[in-house]
Amino acid sequence: METEKKDILRGGQFLVKETNCEDVFTPEDFSEEQQMMRDSVIEFNDRKIIANRERFENKDYAFTEECMREAGEMGFLSVAVPEEYGGMGMGFVSTMLVCDYISSGTGSFSTAFGAHTGIGTMPITLYGTEEQKQKYVPKLASGEWFGAYCLTEPGAGSDANSGKTTAKLSDDGKHYLINGQKMWISNAGFCNMFIVFARIEDDKYITGFIVENNPENGITLGEEEHKLGIRASSTRQVFFNDTKVPVENMLSERGNGFKIAMNALNVGRIKLAAACLDSQRRITTTGVQYANERKQFKTPISEFGAIKSKIAEMATNAYVGESASYRAAKNIEDRIAIRLAEGNSHQEAELKGVEEYAIECSILKVAVSEDVQNCADEGIQIFGGMGFSEDTPMEAAWRDARIARIYEGTNEINRMLSVGMLVKKAMKGHVDLLGPAMAVKDELMGIPSFDIPDYSELFTEEKDMIAKLKKVFLMVAGAAVQKYGQDLEEHQQLMMAASNILIEIYMAESAILRTEKNAKRFGEDKQKEQIAMAKLYLFNAVETVKKNGMEGIISFSEGDEQKMMLMGLKRFTKYTNFPNVVDLRNTIAEKVKAENKYCF
Ligand SMILES: Cc1cc2nc3c(=O)[nH]c(=O)nc-3n(C[C@H](O)[C@H](O)[C@H](O)COP(=O)(O)OP(=O)(O)OC[C@H]3O[C@@H](n4cnc5c(N)ncnc54)[C@H](O)[C@@H]3O)c2cc1C
Repeated sequence: METEKKDILRGGQFLVKETNCEDVFTPEDFSEEQQMMRDSVIEFNDRKIIANRERFENKDYAFTEECMREAGEMGFLSVAVPEEYGGMGMGFVSTMLVCDYISSGTGSFSTAFGAHTGIGTMPITLYGTEEQKQKYVPKLASGEWFGAYCLTEPGAGSDANSGKTTAKLSDDGKHYLINGQKMWISNAGFCNMFIVFARIEDDKYITGFIVENNPENGITLGEEEHKLGIRASSTRQVFFNDTKVPVENMLSERGNGFKIAMNALNVGRIKLAAACLDSQRRITTTGVQYANERKQFKTPISEFGAIKSKIAEMATNAYVGESASYRAAKNIEDRIAIRLAEGNSHQEAELKGVEEYAIECSILKVAVSEDVQNCADEGIQIFGGMGFSEDTPMEAAWRDARIARIYEGTNEINRMLSVGMLVKKAMKGHVDLLGPAMAVKDELMGIPSFDIPDYSELFTEEKDMIAKLKKVFLMVAGAAVQKYGQDLEEHQQLMMAASNILIEIYMAESAILRTEKNAKRFGEDKQKEQIAMAKLYLFNAVETVKKNGMEGIISFSEGDEQKMMLMGLKRFTKYTNFPNVVDLRNTIAEKVKAENKYCF
């Protein structure tokens, strides 16, 4: 099998292993089938979602449901569902692609789509029994039924296992009675079925159940929440009052709910990153089109350096987000294929395949959700006063983007998870961080080389820089682990600083690898702007690493150890040839301006 021959990185290993650019998947590698799928999603998004933007802003919940139904008819709800349950059974990359291009019209539809196809359906496809899958998944795949996911409660948000909802077995042992209050439930207003997490007796962990939405079975809904953004996404409280659920509707085993919830979220996180990509493309396009038209001081504002800088940074972040999201998606797809070839069931293969890259999923969720927010913010700025008006699309894009930093695990939780999971993997011996961390320590003790490296070939200096940034992470995180051991998790500000470094490494490396691969096959001259974007992103990343590295080092070390690490930080973030960032930004902006759209 082709996938077996390739050297596929394990989750988190990107930090300690070099990746060959030929081994990364890039958006330029989409198959013909994937491109066709993309075109049909774009057509749907343009015609149905974007053309009706104001209906979403006017809280037309029924219209969201109508769009979901049409998405079902067009097959978009079924891409990730195996064929035997009425789905298309497409690979992970294709499901990311659909999520990416269907999500940019409005956050309202994007949330409804994500909640249904992700957390509303996946727990059954991944953990359901054969009977449960046969009964529910085909209906969910076709859009005949819609799903919702009830984990959060008034007192249980980030601390998801602390919910008070209970499930009590009936005397005849035939069903559970569910009682409790769930909050912030997307799709609650129109769903036919809930995945509900509840606690049985004094169990340590919650249990998952499939609960059909029947108002005569003790299920009531709160009013629609009035929200900052995603205004036509139905979000309600759901109350369960002696709701009868047949015992055969338990998901997986008793006490397995927390695991189900977390694994569903891993998939949700990477798909949320995908869901923030096309928004950035569209915001950049709308921004540049306005900037090319709008004149001040008798000049199109796109001629001004201050605006060019924004356009360049917006396009760059979108490009980098794409690079990293599809790189990780293909790793997951390949890992699933390997597990299938080894004889795992589809369920097992998919679960383990995604779980393997949980670190990358968290990294992507944080990075891309923050990029889309910044992109929309700068989009408003390009529009000036008009950006603040409801009559232009920037205002809604900005409000809609805000939620991505909160749901699917807040960005604080995901930042800590990314580093926490990595440290755990190292402790279990799944990723060797100790060896490389010791090597960095030895290197710091030694005399630095004064040879002037040959950086004449494309990206040699940049790849060297990535290798050095990895050393910064190993140096800082390694010393912190040594100092605090298991208690590192108590030192959240250090975890956050470490995760900021980790995130930048993954994102910057992904952009460089994508561009290097493309420069090799399409020619450097055809990748001029992409090369500029990869270099610009790396420059910004180095600055972030410097700041966060410094913050960590001066906060937990002292004396000679501190001096040595500060010296290391300086050495590992030093450019031999600084990039001319103004030139880089101008190169990128001129291309976007000339094309009058995001064009990469
Ligand atoms: C529009 C919308 C739709 C949603 N859809 C769904 C849905 O369909 N199903 C569902 O189950 N839930 C849903 N949610 C809930 C969402 O997942 C939670 O809001 C989110 O997990 C955060 O929980 P919380 O709101 O209780 O905030 P809290 O957990 O109270 O967090 C508040 C702040 O404290 C921080 N914090 C919390 N714990 C820690 C910690 N240990 N260390 C450091 N910082 C911490 C958080 O990062 C955050 O900044 C939705 C929420 C919204 C707003």
